[in-house]
Amino acid sequence: MHQLSLFEDKRALTIERIRHIFIESYRELRITRSSPFMHVEFYPFVGINHTIRFRNGGLYARVSDLFREAPSEIIKALAIILLSKLFRRRIPARITHTYRAFVNSVDMKEKSLLTRGQRGRKLLCDPKGHEYNLTSLFDRLNAEYFEGRLGNIGLGWSLRKSRRILGHFDPSHSSITISRIFDDNRIPEFVVSYVLFHEMLHAQFSTSSNFDLKNRHSCQFKNEEKKFKSYKESNDWLKENL
Ligand SMILES: [Zn+2]
Repeated sequence: MHQLSLFEDKRALTIERIRHIFIESYRELRITRSSPFMHVEFYPFVGINHTIRFRNGGLYARVSDLFREAPSEIIKALAIILLSKLFRRRIPARITHTYRAFVNSVDMKEKSLLTRGQRGRKLLCDPKGHEYNLTSLFDRLNAEYFEGRLGNIGLGWSLRKSRRILGHFDPSHSSITISRIFDDNRIPEFVVSYVLFHEMLHAQFSTSSNFDLKNRHSCQFKNEEKKFKSYKESNDWLKENL
């Protein structure tokens, strides 16, 4: 029985299914009568790491993206562990055992070591430029458009002044690089913010359930992008000046 379920689950679970497992686990732990709003996303942490927090009556979980293909019983164990830690419940030994067995499997160890190497090494230039500070621009955009939920993203100006690549989001390091041509007092702030906003959207989409690797600028992406206040102005400016 135990073995079978591992083999049955060959396909990756959808984020919606994972969310249901978290809700189900919450109910089983009998923390409150009603279930809170639950948000789950994958997150490219360095190594195997997961977080959960309780905010404004909602639960926000970030699951290591190394668990994308984890079978449902592992997600279930993880949900129980995270919720038990958050609400100070005792974690059943068999749950810890199930979770550990998965984490210690050869396959997972390899995955974890690989990303540790890749994600740990990336060097970014200082986000504080001569003219613009990417960190403050990021914080402002994060608060205005992402409810402050975009975190743990490395920021840096590119080494070279590229006109071809204006910005880049690297999902394996969870970092955003903006071309140094924008760190210039002749560039209006809304333009720099727009380029950064575009990459922040890529960061957000990379962890969502409907992430489309082949079509990174999907209709959904473009619709989100239009929410940027100076969307038209920025595009016009870029067309004219770059
Ligand atoms: Zn893009």
